[in-house]
Amino acid sequence: MKKVVYLDNNATTQCAPEVVEAMLPYFSEKYGNASSMHNFGGENRRVIDAARHQVAQFIHAQYDDEIIFTSCASESDNTAIFSAVRAFPHKKHIITSAVEHPAVMEPFRYLESRGYRVDHIGVDEKGRFNMTQLKEVIDEDTAIVSIMWANSETGTIFPIEEIAKVAHAHGAIFHTDAVQAVGKIPVDVQKTGVDMLSLSAHKFHGPKGIGVLYVKRGTRFLPYLMGGHQEKHRRAGTENVPYIVGIGKAAELAQKRLADGTMKKVAALRDELEKGILATIPDVKVNGDPANRVPNTTNISFGYVEGESILMFLNEFGICASSGSACTSGSLEPSHVLRAMKVPFEFAHGSIRFSLSDQTTKEDVSLVLKELPPIIERLRKISPFSKMA
Ligand code: PLP
Repeated sequence: MKKVVYLDNNATTQCAPEVVEAMLPYFSEKYGNASSMHNFGGENRRVIDAARHQVAQFIHAQYDDEIIFTSCASESDNTAIFSAVRAFPHKKHIITSAVEHPAVMEPFRYLESRGYRVDHIGVDEKGRFNMTQLKEVIDEDTAIVSIMWANSETGTIFPIEEIAKVAHAHGAIFHTDAVQAVGKIPVDVQKTGVDMLSLSAHKFHGPKGIGVLYVKRGTRFLPYLMGGHQEKHRRAGTENVPYIVGIGKAAELAQKRLADGTMKKVAALRDELEKGILATIPDVKVNGDPANRVPNTTNISFGYVEGESILMFLNEFGICASSGSACTSGSLEPSHVLRAMKVPFEFAHGSIRFSLSDQTTKEDVSLVLKELPPIIERLRKISPFSKMA
């Protein structure tokens, strides 16, 4: 099999072997229901509590019971948003940003259709959050402010602590989708004053299909999934013991990587890749805020070519990345993130996101730097967007 050069870690990561190993016994030997009275199942309760503690430590939660296990970050985002509007039924205004993941955008769209007033806070050309706009639109009628910690496409980090302060000054709940921040930069819910936070294991070498919603003690909360008493009545459904063990282990390993300088090495490789591209290919520009990004991400626009074509050619060499365009009903639309940043059309269409991980090697970066320039040259020769003289 051809070697895969995997530079799409913001889409998902490989589940770490240590994580798989920790999970395995809970599928077969130790399969008991954690809510059972008998010891065989009941022992799994302790295992769940241990994982809850690992995740709480990882994001610096004050209490372990502030961690609610969910099936994914999409569930966590939906739960947070619908909880806030149901907990404050008299409030009819909600705020998000223009560059969120669909797991936040879609619940907001739904609530707008049900009569809620919605404000989407914009970003500047570097993808930086417009704090002034937030201060202008927020009022005492705002139930929730939901703003991501780091952007999935550009890696740009938002001023979470400042946003939380503004939300609280107006009595609003502050929720953050921290899926693209967790594991890449330190995340401290107490220091930043976050009320609710979503995260997903598969973005930091844990399994797919398990997420967390952090809910600070004292936050008014109503469950989304109702049924059993699990998670202290906050999320019904038999506990997914193997995946909970997996997210706990993944959190522990990610915390080590943040402490031992691994993520700095990832940033150095990302910078090497970015510099190499800028030095060898004309008409390219980096999207996002190079001064304030997560360490693994670079989003680069190659002018006058289509991102999908670049990806297809990279694929020939086993190189996996992703593009900022979405093909909708036959028309190629640049992503909502790049549109919000007002990236010019001829650049937005040729945007590629490279997202590295601790598994990325120097050889991976060298291969991209060797293969990419001729790909772009070739595509520009046949491109319908080719620069007109
Ligand atoms: N939020 C952000 C910012 C994401 O990048 C993703 C996944 O791409 C999600 C939410 C959804 O995560 P999950 O796959 O766990 O539902």
